Order: sequence, then C-alpha cells, then structure tokens
Amino acid sequence: MIKAKTALVTGSTSGIGLGIALSLARQGANIVLNGFGDVAGPKAQVEALGVKVGYHGADMSKPADIAQMMDYVRNEFGGADILVNNAGIQHVAKVEDFPPEKWDAIIAINLSSAFHTTRLAIPGMRAKNWGRVINVASTHGLVASAQKSAYVASKHGIVGFTKAVALETATTGVTVNAICPGWVLTPLVQKQIDDRAAREGITVDKAKVDLLGEKQPSLQFTTPEQLGELAVFLCSPAADNVRGVAWNVDGGWAAQ
Ligand code: NAD
Repeated sequence: MIKAKTALVTGSTSGIGLGIALSLARQGANIVLNGFGDVAGPKAQVEALGVKVGYHGADMSKPADIAQMMDYVRNEFGGADILVNNAGIQHVAKVEDFPPEKWDAIIAINLSSAFHTTRLAIPGMRAKNWGRVINVASTHGLVASAQKSAYVASKHGIVGFTKAVALETATTGVTVNAICPGWVLTPLVQKQIDDRAAREGITVDKAKVDLLGEKQPSLQFTTPEQLGELAVFLCSPAADNVRGVAWNVDGGWAAQ
C-alpha cells in the first residue's frame, strides 16, 4: 500500500525515528532520513531493504533549513507522501533553573519544526489526495512530569497541533495523527538513566528499573520497532478514518 511512496522521517539517524524509517521501508516506502551523528550506518540499514534512500541534514531548529529540506524532498522524490515529525530533544531542570536557550531549542525542535514541515508538505498531499502526517509526541503530550516544563509544553503543543490539522484535512485523503510513546530505551532516555545513576549513586541497571517502576506499569520499555509497526498501521487503508488521535504506546503510563 505504501510501496514506492516517500516517507520523510525527521530525526531518523537514531532511536525511534530510525525504527519508524525501517518499518516503513520494509513495506516498500522510499525514505528520506534526517538528523545528526552517523548517517552512513542508518542509511546502509535502510538501503539494505531495497528502497530508494535520501538524506538531508537540516537542523530542525532552523526554519530556513527545513524549507531547503522540503525542496530537496520535492525535487528528488516528488514530495513527502508520509511525513513523520520525530526529531526531538530533552532537558531536565526545575523551571527556575531552566536555561532560556534550552526552552527555545526544545520548542523549536519538538514543536515548531513540525509546523514548518507540515505547512510545506500539506499542499502536495492535498494535490494527490493522499497523505499521512505522524507526529511523534509522547506520554508527556498527555500528562506531565516535574522538571520537564519545556518538553511537556512542546509535547502537549504537538498533540493540539495534530488535532487542529486533522480537522483541516478531515474531508481529504490526508490524515494527521500523533503517537505517544512512554519510555523507549534510546540515547535520549539512556542519558536520563545515566544522570539518575550518577545523582543517586546507584548502578545503571538499578536506575533503569527505578525509571520504569516510577511511571510505566508494564515495567517494559516500548521498542522503536513497535512504534514503527504502529506507523505502518496508520499508513494503511484500515486507518483511513483515524484522525486527530494521540495514540499511547506507554505500558499503561497514562492510564494511571
Ligand atoms: P534520539 O536522541 O535517539 O534521536 C533523536 C533524533 O533527532 C536523532 O536522529 C538526532 O540526530 C535528531 N535531532 C536532534 N536534534 C535535531 C535537530 N536540531 N535537527 C535535526 N535532527 C535532530 O531520541 P529518541 O528517543 O529516538 O526520540 C525521538 C522522538 O521520540 C523525540 O521527539 C522524543 O521526544 C520522542 N519520544 C521519545 C521517548 C523515549 O522514551 N525515548 C518517549 C516519548 C517520546
């Protein structure tokens, strides 16, 4: 169903974004990767699945970079049929200690970047009367935790943005939804585990168990593969009428 369609996945050189890119590629979608760090490794992993793979290194905190990336996708791939807004960062501090530049970066990367990619992708999707926008929000798009004011604000924001654009496109073949993962063991979370171990003078393994025990009733991490398969479902005809949803994959976190 998504064979030969093009999926742009922001922040896909690592973690959840890479997991989603691989799941979509397994279904035959061509992939445009984006993100920092090692590019050759992730690119080779996706290419091994036999699809066309591109990469653009846009910094998602910079609207001009994002516009260039969208031009690249249009010129090289005929536009993004599937847009996965996934790039995101975290910073943990009390609000009175929160560096204003970190606040600005989190809002820009986790929230405003999705506005810029979406506003530039929607016209092409409307013209084809088919499209999927999948926003990687978080359980923190639905509930809060202390010391994460910017992240929680950005993720609540993207859930609201998802609903608004879903309504604007409700009578078209374009759907807009959000995925809300709980804890997923990626570099973003490993840093929080390492910080916790150092702060509390405990082992990394104990910090991992404590982190899960605090929030995630299943006591299991969600995996990038599970999120990738949810993205595949959202791209399927069975999900044609799934619109404006914020879908938890959080081991029961938000049910408490
Ligand atoms: P990660 O750190 O493994 O990956 C983040 C990706 O974003 C990387 O590819 C990185 O290079 C890219 N990135 C960061 N800043 C960027 C920028 N300015 N421009 C372009 N790319 C940039 O993190 P992850 O855990 O895979 O997180 C992916 C998304 O999932 C984020 O939006 C995060 O908030 C969300 N999320 C993660 C978890 C979790 O437990 N890991 C839970 C809920 C939601």
